[in-house]
Amino acid sequence: MSTAIVIGSGLGGIATALRLRHKGYKVTVFEQNDYAGGKLHAIKKDGYRFDLGPSLFTLPHLVDQLHSLFPDHNSSFSYIKKDIGCHYFWEDGTIFKAHSDHADFVTHASDTFTESKAVINNYLNTSKSRYNLTKSLFLEKSLHKWSTYFSFDTIKAIVNAPLLGLFNTLNEENKVFRNPKLTQLFNRYATYNGSSPYQTPGIMSMIPHLEMGIGTFYPQNGMHRISQSLYELAIEVGVEFRFRESVTKINYNHNKAIGITTPLGVYDGDIIVSNMDIYPTYKKLLKDYPEPVKTLEQERSSSALIFYWGGIENEYSELDLHNILFSEDYPAEFDYIFNKKTLFNDPTVYINITSKETKADAPAGCENWFVMINAPGDYGQNWEEMITEARKNIITKINKCLNTDISKHISTEHILDPRGIEKNTSSYRAHYMVPQVMINLLRF
Ligand SMILES: Cc1cc2nc3c(=O)[nH]c(=O)nc-3n(C[C@H](O)[C@H](O)[C@H](O)COP(=O)(O)OP(=O)(O)OC[C@H]3O[C@@H](n4cnc5c(N)ncnc54)[C@H](O)[C@@H]3O)c2cc1C
Repeated sequence: MSTAIVIGSGLGGIATALRLRHKGYKVTVFEQNDYAGGKLHAIKKDGYRFDLGPSLFTLPHLVDQLHSLFPDHNSSFSYIKKDIGCHYFWEDGTIFKAHSDHADFVTHASDTFTESKAVINNYLNTSKSRYNLTKSLFLEKSLHKWSTYFSFDTIKAIVNAPLLGLFNTLNEENKVFRNPKLTQLFNRYATYNGSSPYQTPGIMSMIPHLEMGIGTFYPQNGMHRISQSLYELAIEVGVEFRFRESVTKINYNHNKAIGITTPLGVYDGDIIVSNMDIYPTYKKLLKDYPEPVKTLEQERSSSALIFYWGGIENEYSELDLHNILFSEDYPAEFDYIFNKKTLFNDPTVYINITSKETKADAPAGCENWFVMINAPGDYGQNWEEMITEARKNIITKINKCLNTDISKHISTEHILDPRGIEKNTSSYRAHYMVPQVMINLLRF
């Protein structure tokens, strides 16, 4: 039987392991941590459960596909579709509930922001066509294969390039709205891959289609079930996981990867897949191999600072699973994160509350708040000082938008900052990394 080695048991690593197993390989996954899931992990503290990283679930059919590779095994994974994607708040009291249904979104957005229905409808339709034109290239095909660039889908996308918004920034595209709040709402989608709307191209306007076209979903019992259910399936179908075994080297011979080295041994494989960030893959595991310099020098995405708060009483009916409290000065916020590499004093605050859906995630009468702001990666800033300041600013923002004093409710706290994200998963200065890196010297 041919053997495959996967470095890293993040979602990309587990998915690759399942696909290789399905093709008949004997698969071993090497993971530096003592758990599977990478960024998609969870913690329990003082009776609260918190998903640590991802909180928004889109494109669930991609997870279904993995489960259905092995129809003889019962999947313990299920999810619901949310009617409302997100609740948005501004300091002047404006509240907007973003419906997943296209027509409902248009109606409510038009009423809330006194914006023309036709303009909003047209924007969502453009988002849909951009998504459909490019999804094959960005989401379904490998950018590391020449065949991708000569495929029919790619040629179709190139022919339609003028329609894709490639030559404007996302913010410029979103100026189509007269109401700056709606521009801000759609600018937010740049952050879905850790970009700034003032720098990222307008093609990112395809992302809203994921929410307002296809929908947002919630896995029963939280995001962690995605990685856990796939891990359980992988174990059932015979994938071997070697935890606490960090890979230190990829061994190769004439441009072909032939195995790996860890502190515990040397392992040969017919296929080697790196699921870790491309930067440390080359810098640490392939030290003597020629680097793809341009790729490694690309600007890193933003990272995140997250407070996990428990103790908050269950009295905020205006909040839902996903909530955004917008900064009053969005351009300044991104300038601070991307150019000044620090935090802005009026941050946009994202609050995710899974106990709204899964009551068992918090003690009776309480809620588990995952409170996140976008942040620069770790460039050696004084994080202790920045975290203390950010905590104050976040509380001020929540108090202003929700007309409350949240600080007196917080009895449990856990904090994850960009240093922790980097340390836990080896993703260099970022939290959104190139997923499932297939390094170019490896045959597949
Ligand atoms: C705070 C936060 C919020 C996010 N929110 C969302 C969201 O709402 N929706 C969404 O879709 N995405 C979100 N993301 C992005 C999403 O989490 C990632 O895209 C995804 O989890 C990446 O999976 P991965 O398998 O590619 O990488 P990772 O999960 O980083 O997995 C890499 C694995 O490799 C292991 N590893 C690294 N080096 C070695 C080594 N030398 N030897 C062995 N193992 C090694 C790591 O320990 C890790 O387990 C968020 C990310 C973060 C951090």
